Amino acid sequence: MELGLSGRRALVTGAGKGIGRSTVQALHAAGVEVVAVSRTQDDLDSLVRECPRVKPVCVDLGDWEATEQTLGGVGPVDLLVNNAAVALPQPFLEVTKEAFDRSFSVNLRSVFQVSRMVALGMIERRVPGSIVNISSITAYVTFPNVAVYSSTKGAMTMLTKTMALELGPHKVKMGCWIRVNSVNPTFVLSTAMSKPSLSNPEFLRKIKERHPMKRFAEMEDVVNSILFLLSDRSASTSGSSLLVDAGYLTS
Ligand code: NAP
Repeated sequence: MELGLSGRRALVTGAGKGIGRSTVQALHAAGVEVVAVSRTQDDLDSLVRECPRVKPVCVDLGDWEATEQTLGGVGPVDLLVNNAAVALPQPFLEVTKEAFDRSFSVNLRSVFQVSRMVALGMIERRVPGSIVNISSITAYVTFPNVAVYSSTKGAMTMLTKTMALELGPHKVKMGCWIRVNSVNPTFVLSTAMSKPSLSNPEFLRKIKERHPMKRFAEMEDVVNSILFLLSDRSASTSGSSLLVDAGYLTS
């Protein structure tokens, strides 16, 4: 399916590894000019070698001032993917202030900050835009040791809805809105974030068994859903969460 994204300009956070990196690769292949934001310069260097038109930006999105300074002059953005996140598993009774603050500043506060910068630019330029927040099934169901992570994703559901509600009315001509949605995957085992769960095959076997489709999500499934929500193929969808969960939330 032709998504009609060519010629547009995107910003993807957490672009160095995993889902963010694959999203950049797919957007680059679709003719999109991509600003790739991540924390590790080596990842960005190798990404630019693969995708030469990508503009790399190295910043710690957990640092408000550095983010403001680095992304302040990023230029026009039509499509935003808020993907950067950390998972710092700790039992509820042992959660530290450091892990709590770090998780909320990277997973949620940076979404506020970057989205606001980008949306202000869209409104100023009077252009339509699409913002996709990468959430998780843990916005709705949880597992042991992810009290903080799943709280950030739960809050992201309401942030997505509120952004859709407030940015939707910035309609500047027929058919031009700022839309905001989330993609909520189940486990994607091929990424660095999933590595800790691989050390517990019995947990994974049981969880997989609870998925009606008896499988987890593949990277490609998540990226395809992101591309769909970025594109005009989802023109009437805003404020929604697209589950990529192999049916997990049916039960
Ligand atoms: P990943 O492989 O760990 O990649 C995350 C990327 O974000 C890395 O490039 C990382 O850079 C970057 N990042 C993290 N903190 C950052 C910061 N403070 N500033 C800038 N960049 C930062 O993770 P993933 O599995 O692809 O996850 C991507 C998204 O999908 C996340 O929102 C995650 O919550 C969600 N998700 C993942 C799964 C899963 O099973 N993998 C399931 C559901 C939802 P560094 O490595 O340099 O820190």
